[in-house]
Amino acid sequence: MIPVVKPFLPPKEEYLEYISGIWKRNWLTNMGPLSNELELKISEYLKVKNLLYVNNGTIGLQMAIKALELKGDIITTPFSFVATTSSIVWEGCKPIFVDICSKSLNIDAAKIEEKITENTCAILATHVYGNPCDVYLINEIANKYGLKVIYDAAHAFGVKVGGESIFKFGDIAVCSLHATKLYHSIEGGFVVCNSDLLFKKLTSMRNFGFETVESFSELGINAKNSEFHSAMGLANLTHIGGVFDKRKTIFERYNKKLSTLNARRPKWFRNSENNYAYYPLIFEKEKQLNRTIDFLNKYEVFTRRYFYPSLASSLPYVERKELQITDEICEKILCLPFYTDLSIEEVDLISSLILKVQNDEFSL
Ligand SMILES: *Cc1c(COP(=O)(O)O)cnc(C)c1O
Repeated sequence: MIPVVKPFLPPKEEYLEYISGIWKRNWLTNMGPLSNELELKISEYLKVKNLLYVNNGTIGLQMAIKALELKGDIITTPFSFVATTSSIVWEGCKPIFVDICSKSLNIDAAKIEEKITENTCAILATHVYGNPCDVYLINEIANKYGLKVIYDAAHAFGVKVGGESIFKFGDIAVCSLHATKLYHSIEGGFVVCNSDLLFKKLTSMRNFGFETVESFSELGINAKNSEFHSAMGLANLTHIGGVFDKRKTIFERYNKKLSTLNARRPKWFRNSENNYAYYPLIFEKEKQLNRTIDFLNKYEVFTRRYFYPSLASSLPYVERKELQITDEICEKILCLPFYTDLSIEEVDLISSLILKVQNDEFSL
């Protein structure tokens, strides 16, 4: 059986070494030494300051909206994971969907301006599959209209734009370290912001709004993560170089083996690198996509329609909205099995099965 994703696990001994330290100290959560060490190491690795480790990416998005005191309408993308939209609604704001660009699959920055009204307070965009949004144009629009910018960078660990970490763009950028992501701490996430003042606020918010043990500076929540999660994050971080190399090899093998396939791939933003987080294919027709899924399933190869359906057409708590490009992409996009342990033989098998579907179609 080949699943669509399999979490990376470090050698057990390396994880257990961190765990024995927890037994010695008897410090299990609440900004413990491993959690602090992880924050420091991720900041160093990404070359960013003001990084806060939290218990998941979704809470990071909610904290971002809360910390920026957003009220009213937030312009966002319909082509993302549900948490992008649900955090907006959870925080009492209204999502205003802007169609995506058919090439990048990110929010079409050129269509943002026409959706801005006096109720608009922010833009919340996702770097889909780790492909950077047009961060320069979005920044320009935000400055022109005095809007805040939050990036859902859940897929974008390790991505750089023009040589700089993608987490430096926007007022706040949020990453997920969930087990299914390329770098993870089982559950987890982090929030990055440029402003020191905002960082102080987020730090207090993560811990119930405490300022000192007996005083509060903010409305807070419990967004702390445990020492056990931090241990996984630390153990995995020492393997990150190998993880990227391996994923790049798999990615390039798929490209080579599927070069004759009648399908396209998202176009990457200029001056940025792929972090090989996913392997999406955009088929020409939904019929070909469905045949491919069914045929692969027979061989116990599992794919995922990611993202499908569009957030603007499926959530019971938002007004249904048809968006031409998003709806079309949702119908035709498929993510192939892609994880660090996937072998080259498996990539070859999956590729040949996909090509077989296409060739059988031609001969019909
Ligand atoms: C995974 C993901 C999230 C949620 O992150 P969690 O850590 O699972 O809460 C949010 N947005 C996108 C685009 C994601 O892929």
